[in-house]
Amino acid sequence: MELEKSLQHYFGYTSFRTGQKEVIEALLSGKDIVAMLPTGTGKSICYQLPSLLSSGVTLIVSPLLSLMEDQVQQLRSDGIKSVAAINSFLSKEERHNVFSTLHMYKMIYVSPEMLQIPYVQNQLSKVHISYFVVDEAHCISQWGHDFRPDYLRLGQVKKALGNPPCLAITATATKEVQQDISVRLHMNAPCYLINSVDRPSITYHVETCETNQQKMKRVEQLVEYLQGPGMIYFSSRMWAENVAATLKRKGFGRVAHYHGGLSTEDRLLIQQQFMNGQLDVICCTSAFGMGINKKDIRYVLHFHYPIDMESYVQEIGRAARDGKPSVAILLFCEEDRGLNTLLLEGERATDDQLNEMLNHVKNVRTWTKEQERMILERLNGNEIAWRIVRYQLETRGIIQGDQVRPFSVDSVRSRIREHEQERLESKRKRLETFLRWIRTTACRREKLLFYFSEQIESRPKNCCDNCGATLPMDKNEQEDKIEKMESWRDLLGDLFGSSVKVNEKTK
Ligand code: ADP
Repeated sequence: MELEKSLQHYFGYTSFRTGQKEVIEALLSGKDIVAMLPTGTGKSICYQLPSLLSSGVTLIVSPLLSLMEDQVQQLRSDGIKSVAAINSFLSKEERHNVFSTLHMYKMIYVSPEMLQIPYVQNQLSKVHISYFVVDEAHCISQWGHDFRPDYLRLGQVKKALGNPPCLAITATATKEVQQDISVRLHMNAPCYLINSVDRPSITYHVETCETNQQKMKRVEQLVEYLQGPGMIYFSSRMWAENVAATLKRKGFGRVAHYHGGLSTEDRLLIQQQFMNGQLDVICCTSAFGMGINKKDIRYVLHFHYPIDMESYVQEIGRAARDGKPSVAILLFCEEDRGLNTLLLEGERATDDQLNEMLNHVKNVRTWTKEQERMILERLNGNEIAWRIVRYQLETRGIIQGDQVRPFSVDSVRSRIREHEQERLESKRKRLETFLRWIRTTACRREKLLFYFSEQIESRPKNCCDNCGATLPMDKNEQEDKIEKMESWRDLLGDLFGSSVKVNEKTK
């Protein structure tokens, strides 16, 4: 009961949502925890409340700057002022202010990259860290999407900060990834608090289209008939832009596109318009979503299918945060296989690029930001390729801070290729598993849960297409309605003469 009182006191909520209290109690008792709570259920409270109830500073490692800023703003508007985010948005002076008064804060949000800076670690080690929290912890796993080596090093940082109790929290982690997280964070007898990933208010649908044109037609129908707001996911920026433009041309006014290639201002503007209800449809890549807490998204459409189940669950999880019925519709087309293969293999540097990178490093003695910029420029922005190479160079002590030690290009090259190959195999396997899910004729919910080692306990009424669920405004239903209206029109006409008017379909 005490915890409920604190919840109400700080956040104004009267009760905990499923899974929250268990995580909070375990953290307060000093355990190391790997926790999984479904998307949108309130993972933040799980560490925010313990931090407010304990002495010391809670350190929260968060993957995205915008996510950190949102959380800090939200806490401040809830009246919790003792929070800060240490990131590149801060001026030198602001950063200095935060570091000189660190002990006064309850929560400090920080990026994994920032935590690698010796000065930052040094300052943090001077205060008592009550909890070490890793949000979106699936990024820790080396099998994760974008290879983020700074996530892999968080275990060392935690140790340098005196091994405070640690919470790693995520919405999507298979058993393998859960284990990987606890190992990488050097957890001590971790406690796994795993909740179901199931979101009963989301109905799953998969439709097969022969061509992309056919898909486009179907998108138009769906956008017309489904209750919004909605999101449409694409694997390519160009497609997101083109489909948004086509929809606008066809008279759907409140549509925008969003992807990582837009300027920061444009991205913020579109995000705000969508949040404020000024847009009905957003055509986006996976760059849009993390940290988007819009409660009334009614549908998530996949124009291109994502590369694994984890991404799919994260993306559709943006729907139905208010608990009202929503749909996830995936439009499958064989043609898209090529695009996904490109996505999988795209992170791998070509032989020439790899040689160029390694020779570049070999020829310098001091490592600077400028060297890094030059390499990225030659890679046309393929950052993951460079991260993989740099990680190998750093773990072998070849790049250490700003020092570069001599090394044999051949042996490093072959280790990098092995590592890339392992990653590729793992990704291919996950993609194949996801394709099997797309093609399954069995219950989609059951199969999705099975992927996360869960057994289905009950099926909602509108479970999935394979269980007989139809879309809330399916074209057939619509045509049925029109047919019924037509027969009523005839009947009324017969009864009262031709002056009777029945309202035409409204949209
Ligand atoms: P996510 O799990 O996606 O990280 P958040 O932590 O951002 O979710 O929380 C999602 C929403 O749920 C927020 O608006 C938050 O205020 C709300 N929320 C969290 N816990 C509770 C609760 N116990 N009762 C009511 N609302 C809650």
